[in-house]
Amino acid sequence: MTKHIAVIRGDGIGPEIIEQAIRVLDRVAELYGHNFIYKDVDMGGCAIDKWGSPLPEDMLNKCIKSDSVLLGAVGGNKWNDLPADMRPEKGLLRLRAGMGVYSNNRPAKIWKQLSDASPLKKSIVDKGIDFIIVRELIGGIYFGEHKTENIDGKETAVDVLKYSEDEIARIGRIGFETARKRRKKLCSVEKSNVLDSSRLWKKVMHRLADEYPDIELTDMLVDNCAMQIVKDPSQFDVIVTENMFGDILSDEASMITGSIGMIPSSSLGDTSCGLYEPIHGSAPDIANQDIANPIGAILSAAMMLKYSFDMAIESDCIENAVSRFLDLNYRTADIMSDGMTLVGCKQCGDIILENLRKE
Ligand code: NAD
Repeated sequence: MTKHIAVIRGDGIGPEIIEQAIRVLDRVAELYGHNFIYKDVDMGGCAIDKWGSPLPEDMLNKCIKSDSVLLGAVGGNKWNDLPADMRPEKGLLRLRAGMGVYSNNRPAKIWKQLSDASPLKKSIVDKGIDFIIVRELIGGIYFGEHKTENIDGKETAVDVLKYSEDEIARIGRIGFETARKRRKKLCSVEKSNVLDSSRLWKKVMHRLADEYPDIELTDMLVDNCAMQIVKDPSQFDVIVTENMFGDILSDEASMITGSIGMIPSSSLGDTSCGLYEPIHGSAPDIANQDIANPIGAILSAAMMLKYSFDMAIESDCIENAVSRFLDLNYRTADIMSDGMTLVGCKQCGDIILENLRKE
């Protein structure tokens, strides 16, 4: 099969981790007789430096025309003082909106080899951590009007949080459908005791529940959910929530599984062209030192094979190679513990490649 992949290396550790993901994809192509054709796309700080825009129109078009997009990460201190519209993160928001990906899916799963890396007590981890956060991605407060003005001599800022029932229903359906493929439990997270947008969210979720009688729907306030994720994460199967709550909860969920460097994500809309990226940022503090963990990027490539290219076996083959890497007691710095062998970013890629076998 031939697939065209738009590759956004981005800033900070982005290029280093994407390099390893591409080596893994190339080996999979070799093993299974596929042909992956990569097109480089500039986005983020590097695009600002080169083109004066965090995502020029022609770069966005390259992504839309591809079969899927693989992204490292964007951003860094160098671009922090630019006006909001010119910052690297604006490129990411524009990309998500341009691709029409409205659902971000982040697994929070503990690898058995890394259970010691979780900051949670062993008694909590031993109950198991395996849930997915389905986050609405192109609506809500991040996409509402933002303005800062002077009112009565005082700087005053406003950010608008708006959701229509259609926007809620389409992400709600992804939540129900995801639960249907798993343990059939969906927890809808909102703040309906305070926000109108959350009251509408809850109403629409319950309306949808009639279409999914096999799914157990529960509601949870976002502040309670933040506590429950550390108190008893085993209770969750699928969490569906709006953009900003999902942004925060999914970072919390990533911490309890050990390392932010291990976690992939997918963003999907109505077509099979998805956006695949590790959940972490550009980690400027460790960039260009060959110490970043490339596994989140490598597993993002694996998700792309499974969810966009219908290559489930090839995807499992990557996951198994990562599992073998951990079984062999190799660790990157972020997941290092006593008795393990420390490896850098490239060496991590080398060992995963050595352990990549046709299933
Ligand atoms: P970050 O995720 O980049 O880093 C947080 C911490 O985790 C840092 O200590 C970092 O060293 C560590 N870390 C992250 N990824 C790692 C990896 N693969 N291996 C080992 N350690 C890893 O978050 P931040 O520091 O808040 O943000 C840095 C920049 O990234 C900012 O400019 C931010 O806007 C941007 N950002 C981009 C994205 C994206 O491109 N999707 C997402 C989040 C943040």
